[in-house]
Amino acid sequence: VMSNIAFIGLGNMGAPMAHNLVKAGHTVTVYDLSQAAVARLVEAGAHPASSASAALDNAEIVISMLPASAHVESLYLGENGILAQIPEGTLIIDCSTIAPQVARKVALAAAAKGLSMIDAPVSGGTAGAAAGTLTFIVGGSSAALELARPVLSAMGKNIFHAGDYGAGQTAKICNNMLLGVLMAGTSEALALGVANGLDPKVLSDIMSKSSGRNWALEVYNPYPGVMENVPASKHYAGGFGVDLMLKDLGLAAEAALTARASIPLGELARNLYSLHSQGGSGSLDFSSILKLIAPANLD
Ligand code: NAD
Repeated sequence: VMSNIAFIGLGNMGAPMAHNLVKAGHTVTVYDLSQAAVARLVEAGAHPASSASAALDNAEIVISMLPASAHVESLYLGENGILAQIPEGTLIIDCSTIAPQVARKVALAAAAKGLSMIDAPVSGGTAGAAAGTLTFIVGGSSAALELARPVLSAMGKNIFHAGDYGAGQTAKICNNMLLGVLMAGTSEALALGVANGLDPKVLSDIMSKSSGRNWALEVYNPYPGVMENVPASKHYAGGFGVDLMLKDLGLAAEAALTARASIPLGELARNLYSLHSQGGSGSLDFSSILKLIAPANLD
């Protein structure tokens, strides 16, 4: 069944996700603050909208893929927030990674208006978004998840139900805290090997078949030239921004404070990405943490 979909937020992730919905045959109307981003999607077969509310015309499903909590809260609940204009019966899917309590607040406001909403943050990176192989980590009712399943399937291959509103965000935050730690640790290990005369590609091959293997090493290697088509081999352009990883590690710190949990490595990783961002690397891909750890190894 094809749907009319409003898609808001066409960045590194939103653009390839919206493109896959077009390819699957859905009618997709897109909006982003960047007109260039809208134009690229129109070239791929989407319809342009000049504002978020203009994108809602005839929409049966609204999908948002925005940077952080504040953007999502303001899109739905802010001054001119679109929740007030979305007709009853519409399904809302927020794929952004945001604070669980903000996801709950927006979903409860939606429910009060007769709208179903799920939080459906994703994992898999920009390559997974382009290939349509993302993992969706859903919070909300089972009924809303079943309504969303056909469109999620056009963008991803694994769909998990983590629990009620906000639970998708909590699971995603745990995953990304681990990813931040793994990327920093992988960078440290590769830089240590190189500093002692090893070839980073040979060391990566060895560790990929040894007990240090992990996604950052095998799929998203941070050392320039080890893998093709990853940000490290493109001057750390595109991908998943340092400032977005820093945001997610901040969400992990908030979750730890709320639950009185200990996250010693997560906090260390947050400080490393924060230092890296303050050094001017906030918009580079997060695998550039290698440059903070081993600046002398690079250019
Ligand atoms: P991005 O910064 O590349 O894109 C965000 C887009 O939102 C930009 O195009 C921006 O212009 C647009 N935008 C901001 N405010 C807007 C508004 N009010 N109305 C319309 N458009 C607006 O970010 P991204 O990498 O695509 O990430 C989006 C979300 O997905 C983030 O929460 C991120 O943490 C998460 N995420 C990213 C990755 C990744 O690999 N990049 C992977 C998983 C999850």
